[in-house]
Amino acid sequence: MQRFLITEAAKHIGEKVKVCGWVNAKRAHGKILFIDLRDISGIIQVVFVPSNKEIYNLAQELKPEWVVEINGQIVKRPTQMVNDKIETGQVELSVDSLKILSQSETLPFSIDDVGYEIGEDIRMKYRYLDLRRERLKNNLITRHKIIKFVRDFLDKEGFIEIETPILTKSTPEGARDYIVPSRQHPGKFYALPQSPQQYKQLLMVAGLEKYFQVAKCLRDEDPRGDRQPEFTQLDMEMSFVQQEDVMDLTERLLILMIKNLFPEKKIQEIPFPRISYEEAMKKYKTDRPDLRKDKNDKNLLAFCWVIDFPFFKTGSDELGYPDGKWKPTHNPFSAPKPEFMEDLLNQKNIGKILTTQYDVVMNGFEIGGGSIRNHKREALEAVFEIIGYKKEFIEEKFGHMLNAFSFGAPPHGGIAWGLDRVVSLLLNEPNIREVIAFPKTGDGRDFMMSAPSEIDKNQLNELHIKISEQNQNKDKKKSQKTHKLKVVKKEKSKKSKK
Ligand code: ASP
Repeated sequence: MQRFLITEAAKHIGEKVKVCGWVNAKRAHGKILFIDLRDISGIIQVVFVPSNKEIYNLAQELKPEWVVEINGQIVKRPTQMVNDKIETGQVELSVDSLKILSQSETLPFSIDDVGYEIGEDIRMKYRYLDLRRERLKNNLITRHKIIKFVRDFLDKEGFIEIETPILTKSTPEGARDYIVPSRQHPGKFYALPQSPQQYKQLLMVAGLEKYFQVAKCLRDEDPRGDRQPEFTQLDMEMSFVQQEDVMDLTERLLILMIKNLFPEKKIQEIPFPRISYEEAMKKYKTDRPDLRKDKNDKNLLAFCWVIDFPFFKTGSDELGYPDGKWKPTHNPFSAPKPEFMEDLLNQKNIGKILTTQYDVVMNGFEIGGGSIRNHKREALEAVFEIIGYKKEFIEEKFGHMLNAFSFGAPPHGGIAWGLDRVVSLLLNEPNIREVIAFPKTGDGRDFMMSAPSEIDKNQLNELHIKISEQNQNKDKKKSQKTHKLKVVKKEKSKKSKK
């Protein structure tokens, strides 16, 4: 017999069905034994009566979270037994046969409730159990629906979803790179992408015109607030567009997605109000103001765009840029606003140059940002020179971009959303970890897989890496410091250089 999902099965009153799932709860009423059976779709009450002796005895052994297969008949419950709280509350399953597919130990924590109060380390260690919780299951389903909606929308708009590499060379995005040593090229390293920024621009040079990707981004940042070392962006790039086009597309997509998937939510103001960086700082003392008129309403969404950011700032708080020089407030690949192009090329009035950057803010959280890019070689070179990079360095790090721009690069621009943040805010979740299947803890650890972990000597040797002595004797559990890696060039590689 074919298996039915529980909520489907419940519709077949009077019919015989097969269902499979987990024992959610077990209870006895006098001689009658009930279990609540759970699958992805919902819960149904299953009834075992003593007259059916063999099955009844087997059912006595059932414990919470055992996995079973049950054949039986869907019957209407007597009126006084109807349970309005569950979707299948009108019916129950009268059992013909019971098969135990798998047993379960007692779970380390309860999964019946929302689970916020349970310690993070234990939730993360047993994440696959944590995810059995209704709240987290629904979060992942909603996340899927959001991504599907976005994909369908962008497909209709003529976008192509294209994957870009994970093993790459670093992009300056103001964070530290995760580094992967190369076995085949001793002493050389890949970087994991902080975002697909350069690749998506190169796809525009390639003539693909409208790109998007649900992209993993990796940034080795110190634990700060609600961050994850790896997170997901909805990344987009378009050719022959201006600021207005990218903002319009983003706004249409956000509004339509919310109207379709979150009809209970109210968007405070459409079109989204636009505020200059200067005005935002003056009026709200932040560049991501929370414009909600009623901050107690959990279904109120107040969006705004923040625009007209200064292109450069001074200060030495950002990684990857020379100290004491100008650094981009956002993206080094951005174009200035057209009226500041002269100044950029002449490297004049640097502090006054405004960028085409636009950030989209929802209820006080920046949920996305992007810009129109410099598609001309000399403009991008000027940015790097202002940052203080030397000519050889620019050539070494960004030669491929400059080269690409000398082969007919179209004007282009794009945006990326912090997808985890969008999903968590729409679900009123306090933390992006609640909408990621397997997140890391605040300090970047995966308690379930025990990552990061040591690797054995052979692996290290193959990668030409030696852990420096000062780190070797440290208490491994307590030490959370990054191991200093030292590259050991083998005889072989020395020889090959000759
Ligand atoms: N790559 C940028 C970021 O990660 C987004 C963009 O400008 O498209 O913030």
